[in-house]
Amino acid sequence: MARIVMKFGGTSMAGTERIRRVASIVRAQAAPKPDGTRDSVAVVVSAMAGETDRLVNFCREANPLYDPAEYDVVVASGEQVTSGLLALTLQSLGCKARSWLGWQLPIQTIEAHAKARIDKIDAPGLIAAMEAGEIAVIPGFQGVSEDDRVTTLGRGGSDTSAVAVAAAIRADRCDIYTDVDGVYTTDPRIVAKAKKQKAVTYEEMLELASVGAKVLQTRSVGLAMKEGVRVQVLSSFIGEGAPPADDLPGTMIVSDAEMDELVENGLMERQLVTGIAHDKNEAKIILTRVPDRPGAVANIFEPLAAASINVDMIIQNVGRDKGETDVTFTVPQSDLARAQALLEDRRDAIGFNRIITDSKIAKISVVGVGMKSHAGVASTMFRSLSDRGINIQAISTSEIKVSVMIDEDETELAVRVLHTAYGLDAKD
Ligand code: ASP
Ligand code: MG
Repeated sequence: MARIVMKFGGTSMAGTERIRRVASIVRAQAAPKPDGTRDSVAVVVSAMAGETDRLVNFCREANPLYDPAEYDVVVASGEQVTSGLLALTLQSLGCKARSWLGWQLPIQTIEAHAKARIDKIDAPGLIAAMEAGEIAVIPGFQGVSEDDRVTTLGRGGSDTSAVAVAAAIRADRCDIYTDVDGVYTTDPRIVAKAKKQKAVTYEEMLELASVGAKVLQTRSVGLAMKEGVRVQVLSSFIGEGAPPADDLPGTMIVSDAEMDELVENGLMERQLVTGIAHDKNEAKIILTRVPDRPGAVANIFEPLAAASINVDMIIQNVGRDKGETDVTFTVPQSDLARAQALLEDRRDAIGFNRIITDSKIAKISVVGVGMKSHAGVASTMFRSLSDRGINIQAISTSEIKVSVMIDEDETELAVRVLHTAYGLDAKD
C-alpha cells in the first residue's frame, strides 16, 4: 500500500465544477489497483485562484498597518473553504473523506506570522485515518503557532505544506497538480519548441524556482531535497477517467543519483542545460562614486538586509581614480522604492554621489547540473546573445547556473536564442 500526497493549486480549485474534476482525480488515485492493493491518500489544497489576493486586500482596507496575526486569520480562510468543499465533493462521489485544518493535525509552525515555517507535523492520527481508507483533505498554506494561533506560510506556501506532509508521513510520492503538465525547458508561451522534461534534479529545480520558473515555491523544493521527498509536477487539466499518475506522466524532481540512473537506462538524455528561465520582476540600482575602501559595501547592504530586501546580482566596478567606484545591484521591483528610500537616508554614511534606478531590466538564467563538469556554457550564452545584438549589463553565476541582466524588451528574443543555442528545441 503506497502513501500518496496530492496537491492541487488555485486554478485547479477555482469553483465547484473544477473541484469536482479534482475529486475525480483523487478518487481514481484512491481506488483499488488491478492487483487488489490501494493507496492511502492525503490531498493538500490551495484557495481558489485569486481568493488569497482578495483576502489580502480586505486586510489592507480594514487597516493598512494590519497585525500579521489577524491577517493570518483572514487569509488562511481561503484554504479552509476549498478543503471543506473538496471533502464534501469526494463524499458526494461515494468516497470516505475528512478535512484536517492546520490546528487539527497539527501543523506546528515557528517564526513570524504571515511567513511562518513548518517545525513539525504530528502525523500518527493522519496516517491511521488514511490507512483506514479515509481520504485526508488538508488546507495548504496554514499552520498553528506555539501559542495556538492560526499562521500562514507566505505566498505560494501550499506547495511547502504538501511536501512537509509528504515528509511527515514518509509518502512514496508527492504529486503537485497544477495548470501546466510539467517542468519545461523554458516557458512554452515564449518558445513553441520548448520540451517537457521527464525529470530534473532537486538542485536544478531549486535554481529554476528561484530565478522565475513559477512552477513550485522555492522553499518547497529545498524541503523536498532535504527530506528526500519524491515530487512529481503534473497537470490537473486531464480528461475524465484518466488513470492515476503512477506511471509518472509529469516531471519527476529527483536526486543526482536517480538522474544518473535515468540517463544510464536511456530514459533521459544527458543535457548541459536543463532550463532557461526569465524574470522581469527585478530592478537595478546604481550608486555612483562610492568610496573605494573597506566597509563601504557593507554600509550599502546592511540596511537592505535589515529591511529583508533581497539583493541578487552585485557588481562593484574596479576603483577609478580618486578612490571611488560605482556599485550596481538588483532588488525585487516591489522593494525598489523602499530600497531607494533607505539608501537616500544613508547617503552621508555611505557616501555615494548619485542613485540611478532602472526597472526595465530582465534576468535570464540558464540552469543545468551538466555545467559542473563542462566548460563553455557561459561563453555560449555570451556569444549567442551578442550575435543578436543583445547587451549584457551584469552577470552572476553559481555552480549550476549562469544569469545575465539585459534590457527587458529583449527578454523573449534572448530566451528563444538561448533555447536554440543549447540544442533544446524540440524536433518536430
Ligand atoms: N493561497 C496561497 C497563495 O495564493 C497559498 C498557495 O496557494 O500556495 O499564496
Ligand atoms: Mg502555487
